[in-house]
Amino acid sequence: MATKIILDPGHGGFDNGATYEGRTEKADNLNLALAVGDLLSDLGYDVEYTRTTDVYDSPLRKAQIGNESGADYFISFHRNSSATPSQYGGVQTLVYDDSGVKADMARAINSALEQLGFRNINVDERPDLAVLRRTNMPALLIETGFINNDYDNYLFDYNFEQIAEAIANAIDETLQNEG
Ligand SMILES: [Zn+2]
Repeated sequence: MATKIILDPGHGGFDNGATYEGRTEKADNLNLALAVGDLLSDLGYDVEYTRTTDVYDSPLRKAQIGNESGADYFISFHRNSSATPSQYGGVQTLVYDDSGVKADMARAINSALEQLGFRNINVDERPDLAVLRRTNMPALLIETGFINNDYDNYLFDYNFEQIAEAIANAIDETLQNEG
């Protein structure tokens, strides 16, 4: 049976997530999650999503959707933001605790995105986040650059397909190594 991965595009509906000059995090998150999902499907994974349209569910509900799906892994897509534009930049991946396959996967994703030009902010433990705390399977949350950093947005837009490939391949290679 194929490994099942549920992809969670952060925010949605009335909840734009972070915004910058008309750009919304919810749209970036959805576009990237769908692109990564297509690639994971091509690699033979059973892919589901917590949303495929512009709708809102709470982070707790997203975790429940993940649990109800019976997925083996839960990957949440977000973009970071800072108080002032271009104050920070880079990719960061969040986990409940820094152990196991999810931590290996998080590091693989960060390294792959670093090779595309993002600064690598590293892996951080965020046990307070519902999508990490309330999911029954290994879960991680990717912050694909800062939405209020012009350089990160340049990378996001002009290397979009490579970013999706980097994330999908990092997930696949981690699971091949663990398997
Ligand atoms: Zn977010």
